Amino acid sequence: MEWAYMRDMLLKELETIVKDVRDGKHVLLEDTIFYPVSGGVDHDTGSIISEDGESYQVVRVMKDADQILHDVDREGLQPGMRVKLVLDWERRWKLMRMHTTAHLIAAALYPHGVKITGNMMTVEKGRMDFNLPSFDRQMLEDAIRQVNEWIQQDGEVTTYTLPREEALKQEHLVKLASRLPPSIDKLRIVRIILSDGTLIDEQADGGCHVPRLKDIGRVILKKVENKGKGNRRLVFTLEPE
Ligand SMILES: [Zn+2]
Repeated sequence: MEWAYMRDMLLKELETIVKDVRDGKHVLLEDTIFYPVSGGVDHDTGSIISEDGESYQVVRVMKDADQILHDVDREGLQPGMRVKLVLDWERRWKLMRMHTTAHLIAAALYPHGVKITGNMMTVEKGRMDFNLPSFDRQMLEDAIRQVNEWIQQDGEVTTYTLPREEALKQEHLVKLASRLPPSIDKLRIVRIILSDGTLIDEQADGGCHVPRLKDIGRVILKKVENKGKGNRRLVFTLEPE
């Protein structure tokens, strides 16, 4: 299913229909603009407003197989109800800035043979775990400097779909192999190109990104941790917050 947040990452509101409600508070919708916690990025929040004007707060959004579960703060929504979804846009915009930054950092580290093993983007901070045999803070500082240069130069983030077979033939598209969604025949590809035409990153990705690199602002390296056995952790924040 290609959800509305994949088709249009800048969509702030959407009218749709309640498909199912589990245990009173887990709501399934015909379509959604709410991104579920996945791919190392935190979920959206916002509200679901029914036709009679009742507002339900979306406190958590999760994937359940091919479905998306919206946890609301109270019971009342019923299958078949027409509803309007409204995103907490400030939160989403921050998460998109964080997410695009994670792609840039991974791209800056890639030539050094660094393998990303996990990451988590929240509104407060971005955390990236990766494999690097020797502890090299300088290399990480250089990578962040590189990322800020790319942002200064500006560039575009675009998406397109590709048949799975085609994507699997292109090694650079499965850079983060663990992120490849199973049982999906068409892949959504996210591509980052600098304003001078240089391709920075291109990979299968179901998440939301800012349209332009300038939208990110500035990346600040907060912390570098040595977790032992080649495992490193990098923590960053963004300015403006
Ligand atoms: Zn991503």
